[in-house]
Amino acid sequence: KVRVRFAPSPTGGLHLGGVRTVLFNYLFARHHGGDFVLRIEDTDQTRFVPGAEEYILECLRWCGLEADEGPHKGGPYAPYRQSERKALYRQYGEQLVNAGFAYYAFDTPEELEAMREVEKARGNHSPQYNHSVRKTMRNSLTLDAAEVKTLLEKGTPHVIRIKMPENETVAFTDMIRGEVSFQTSTVDDKVLLKADGMPTYHLAVVVDDYLMKISHAFRGEEWLPSAPVHILLWKYLGWEAEMPQWAHLPLILKPDGNGKLSKRDGDRLGFPVYAMNWLDPKTNELTQGFRERGFLPEAFVNMLAMLGWNAGSEQEIFSIDELIQQFSIERVHKGGAKFDYDKAKWFNHQYIVKKDDATLAKLFQPVLAEKGLAPEEAYVAKVTGLVKERCHFINEIWDHGFFFFVRPDKYDVEAVKPKWTPEKQAFFESWITEIGALPDFTFAALEDNFKQLATAKNIKPGELQLPFRIMLCGGKFGPPVFVIAETLGKEETIERIKQALA
Ligand code: GLU
Repeated sequence: KVRVRFAPSPTGGLHLGGVRTVLFNYLFARHHGGDFVLRIEDTDQTRFVPGAEEYILECLRWCGLEADEGPHKGGPYAPYRQSERKALYRQYGEQLVNAGFAYYAFDTPEELEAMREVEKARGNHSPQYNHSVRKTMRNSLTLDAAEVKTLLEKGTPHVIRIKMPENETVAFTDMIRGEVSFQTSTVDDKVLLKADGMPTYHLAVVVDDYLMKISHAFRGEEWLPSAPVHILLWKYLGWEAEMPQWAHLPLILKPDGNGKLSKRDGDRLGFPVYAMNWLDPKTNELTQGFRERGFLPEAFVNMLAMLGWNAGSEQEIFSIDELIQQFSIERVHKGGAKFDYDKAKWFNHQYIVKKDDATLAKLFQPVLAEKGLAPEEAYVAKVTGLVKERCHFINEIWDHGFFFFVRPDKYDVEAVKPKWTPEKQAFFESWITEIGALPDFTFAALEDNFKQLATAKNIKPGELQLPFRIMLCGGKFGPPVFVIAETLGKEETIERIKQALA
């Protein structure tokens, strides 16, 4: 059975790349009728950030990509938080030690520091605890068995490290990259179990993927260097036959393609890189989110799907069901995907235009409420329908349609003044009476009546339309002017003409 997992560490908000990992896991699971598991990898207490797990859950909910199992709803392999599984990992660490694939290391922080100094003095700038160094350190490979036993019995602080082979090739087939191989000589003896009894990520990820029967493990390309450690652990623990199939997803790149997209790029270029606003509780720093910027979740998800994947056709707009149907991990490219904010806005625009007016109006209500306005829903929906073609975001309904909700408080007088005449003033004064008597206040009836009266008064209707627009909106913008009047309604239209003439 297909079982995939998203395994974030709760260290902060979710970057675009994180949500895309969620999405590809979700699509793969749904496509194959499998399960999607959410597992919180919180074994590193020093990097734990309060609120991050709640943020991740809320984000999955907002995107409509909720997991089938996880800390929010339990499941057959609970608990789904690694800190709550702590007791489970030690036995596997010890199993590895007993089989000769790992060892106890008793080095104190001072000893480790001294080792690094010596290595640096020798010209080795990134010292690692590896096959050559391990021979000089205090561990169960260098100390004699009796001493190790005593140290353990005394409760001497120690870690368990993997014993990386000196010179072996570790190879595997990545579903996106094909054959990938590593020389073990470049990888150090990673800590598997820490002095506080907590596993490190490397041990926990393998143990949990095994125990949770994960069939396919998809994660960001940044984890590729860790893959040899994980693959050896699968083998050393005797689980090789059950190892998941791997896929390392391409990076999301800066708009210019020059390196990985970072939080700072967003600040610098003025676009969000997180799914939702994230207020870092430690620094009080706010990172902008797509949700708060006004993205619709469907548009956000569709945009993400196209970062690194395509259906092999020109199609770009996909509903979630279409994505589920057409997604295949083999079609994910291995090259990085450039993030293009204008394209992201284009996706949002497409979804806004497609959405029905009543739904959009509901989404727009909070913007109105914030301004102390509470117009009727049907009216808001009508306005939304008139301006949505111009909007990339929900809140732009205000920018393009504010005059439907508030009377002008200033007028673009310059646009009218040079050609203003007493005759034109007289026209509007009498038109107020005319439209007051109009039986149906439709744009067509208004336009007819307007033209008739203008002709009768010997003024070109075209010359009166701009002043009329400015009376209603305050400036030279908005939908067709008679449509504006119809939408505002008879009373409001008359009031606005009166206010402008006064
Ligand atoms: N806990 C890792 C992270 O924070 C998960 C990597 C993986 O999926 O194996 O991204």
